[in-house]
Amino acid sequence: MFQSVELSPGDPILSLVEDFKRDDRAQKVNLSIGLYYDEAGHVPQLACIRRAYERLASQQDRPDLYLPMEGLASYRLAVQHLLFGRGSEPVQAGRIATVQTLGGSGALKVGADFLHRYFPQAELWVSNPTWENHISIFEGAGFKTRTYPYFDPATGGVDFEAMLACIRQIPAGHVVLLHPCCHNPTGADLTDEQWDMLVPVLKERKLIPFLDLAYQGLGRSLEEDVYAVRVMVAAGLEFLLSNSFSKVFSLYGDRIGALSVVCPDEGTAERVLSQLKVTVRRNYSSPPVRGAQLVDIVLGDQALSGLWQDEVAAMGARIREMRKKLHEQLVARLPGQDFRYLLEQRGMFSMMKLSPAQVDRLREEHGVYVLRSGRVCMAGLNERNLPPVVEALAAVLA
Ligand code: PMP
Repeated sequence: MFQSVELSPGDPILSLVEDFKRDDRAQKVNLSIGLYYDEAGHVPQLACIRRAYERLASQQDRPDLYLPMEGLASYRLAVQHLLFGRGSEPVQAGRIATVQTLGGSGALKVGADFLHRYFPQAELWVSNPTWENHISIFEGAGFKTRTYPYFDPATGGVDFEAMLACIRQIPAGHVVLLHPCCHNPTGADLTDEQWDMLVPVLKERKLIPFLDLAYQGLGRSLEEDVYAVRVMVAAGLEFLLSNSFSKVFSLYGDRIGALSVVCPDEGTAERVLSQLKVTVRRNYSSPPVRGAQLVDIVLGDQALSGLWQDEVAAMGARIREMRKKLHEQLVARLPGQDFRYLLEQRGMFSMMKLSPAQVDRLREEHGVYVLRSGRVCMAGLNERNLPPVVEALAAVLA
C-alpha cells in the first residue's frame, strides 16, 4: 500500500543543521537556523520565564485539563494588550477575535484555513522572497500563491516602488501577507513612511492584509515594531495578525502564539471567533497549556512584564551590536565593498550578497553555515565567533 510513497526531500534548513552537527571542526559556526543565541552561544532561558515556572510550580497541584478550543482566556487578552495596546479602541470595543495557537505556524494555518473557507477564490500574495513555510502552509490550506516584488539585492533594501505598483494591480479580495518587522529571510523592512503609503492602497484595493509578526521587539522596540499594526487600525482596516512568542520568549518547543482577526464590530468578532474555534477543532481540537500559562504569568504581572521587556530589549540590542561589529570589521577587511545594508536591515536575519558557490565555500573551507540563499542569522554571532566568521566572509568575498 505505501510502497509508492516517495521520500520527501526534507527541509533544507533542518538538513543543514544535521550537517552542522556531524561537522567535527572545532571552529564551526552555525548561522543557518533562526534561533536567538546569547553572547555565550546558548539559546537562553529568559529570567522572566524561570520566575514564571517557579510560580507555576507553587500553584500546580492538579492535572492539566484540556484548554478550550480558543485557548486560555487571560492569555488571549494579554496578547491583545501587547499587540494592539491595552487602552486601544479595537481592544476596548471588543472587536478583535483572538485564539491561542501552536506558535506562529499554527496561527498561519488557522488563519489560512479560515480564509480559504470564506474566500475560496482568494489567492495569497507573499513578498519575493518570504519565509518558505508561508507558501507551504497556505498551499496546504488550498491557496494558490503568488509573489509581489520586495527585496532589491542591489541595495539590500526594499524595492518599494515595484512592490506598491504590483499591489495596486492585485484583484480585490485577495490576501496580502506582510511582515510588520524583521523580515524573514532578508531583514529588509518597510519604513514607517512606506507603511503610511501602503495601507491606503490595501484599503482602496479591498485586499485582505495578513500580518505575520514573529520578532516583535528584536528590530527596533516592542512598540516601534508594531507600527504597521497601529497604522492599519488607525485606517479602519479589517485584517489578520499572527504572532509567535517562540523567539521573543525563547519558548520554541512550547509552541505558543496567537491569531487575531480585527473586525469592524463586536458582533462580527464574536462570529469570527466561533469560526476560528471550528477551524481549531477540525485541526487539533485544543492548544497546549504550558506556554500560554507561562506567557500569561509574565504579561499579567507588572514586575515580570518589565523584566521581559528589558530582556527583549537586550536581545535586540545585542543583535544590533553584532551587526555593527560585523559591518565595521568587513569594511576594514574589504574597503572597496559596501556593507551598509547590514546596519540598515533589522532583526535576526540579513540577506548577505553571497552566491550559492560562496555559501558552499563558507561551509566547506571555513565551517561557517549559512543558508543557500545567503540568509545569515545575525543572532548567532558573538564576540568569540565573530573573528573566524569575518575571516571566512573576507576570504570568499575578496
Ligand atoms: N513567521 C515567520 C516570519 C517566521 O520567521 C517564523 C519562525 N521561523 C514563524 C512565522 C513561525 O513561528 P513558530 O516557530 O512560532 O511557529
